[in-house]
Amino acid sequence: TITRTAFIGLGIMGGPMAANLVRADYDVTGYDMSREAVERLVAAGGRAAASVPEAVAGADVVITMLPDSPQVEEVAFGGDGLLEHGKPGMFHVDMSTIKPETSCRVAQAATIKGIRPLDAPVSGGERGAVDGTLSIMAGGHADDFEALRPLFGVLGTTVRHVGPSGAGQTVKAANQLVVGGIFGLVAEAIVLLEASGVDPESGLDVLAGGLAGSRILELRRHSMIKREFAPGFRIDLHHKDMGIVLAAARRAGVALPLTGLVAELMAAAKAQGHGHLDHSALLKVIERING
Ligand code: NAD
Repeated sequence: TITRTAFIGLGIMGGPMAANLVRADYDVTGYDMSREAVERLVAAGGRAAASVPEAVAGADVVITMLPDSPQVEEVAFGGDGLLEHGKPGMFHVDMSTIKPETSCRVAQAATIKGIRPLDAPVSGGERGAVDGTLSIMAGGHADDFEALRPLFGVLGTTVRHVGPSGAGQTVKAANQLVVGGIFGLVAEAIVLLEASGVDPESGLDVLAGGLAGSRILELRRHSMIKREFAPGFRIDLHHKDMGIVLAAARRAGVALPLTGLVAELMAAAKAQGHGHLDHSALLKVIERING
């Protein structure tokens, strides 16, 4: 049974995920560039490591939860990387949202070292990370996924194996284009209702109960109408994700016209200085277009 877990990247998502593993009696050693993030894990009952090699030494499974592809490559590759220091048979589960092609490259290098790779990005936000109710979409070997099912069960409720290496990231890309698109459209609905003199609260209440209903309308319509944009999921990260979506579309040889528009709105939000705000702040961009 798996007990020794290294957790690298203890931010908004990784911090509470690692703490949930500690609570479920996993032996968790954490590493993050930020000393404070590591100290929060220690306060939750985990162990501290001062480097990637130290975290990975003797681990049965290493989880990475880092911002983007370059950070995952940095932590995976090189003399100080987890592929160099992990023991053969160790699992590497990358739960960050990164490019599918980067996942495939990391997975290939892992396999050469006898390390068992899974890309397992998540959806459900900080709330889902804290509550252990994430959606987890995993790419890699089905046997490796099955071996880690108990661990995934600690972190999430909707847990699926979706295909070979990279498939988890492709599903996450699809998720991000849908989420971005819905936020953009809810923003447009609010602008239309307000400009027409109709109360947006009662308007969106009706939408939430009908065919237009969605988790986003359910959870975020009140905060959007009140213009509360504390993250949550930052525009900066969703902007990064739209880049991943468009790169994946280009590799797959398909055109995604609405996704392109949403990506540009996300870029506008970032350019207007809203990168640190929640992605629901797309509303600010739609408002600005309207004067
Ligand atoms: P975050 O910025 O809060 O956390 C990332 C952590 O990684 C930070 O603590 C940072 O210090 C650490 N880090 C960066 N580079 C490092 C390195 N080279 N070595 C060690 N530590 C390093 O980000 P987050 O919100 O936790 O997101 C992590 C990933 O999960 C991202 O890919 C994001 O897109 C994805 N994600 C986030 C959410 C969300 O709602 N926040 C939801 C789903 C998926």
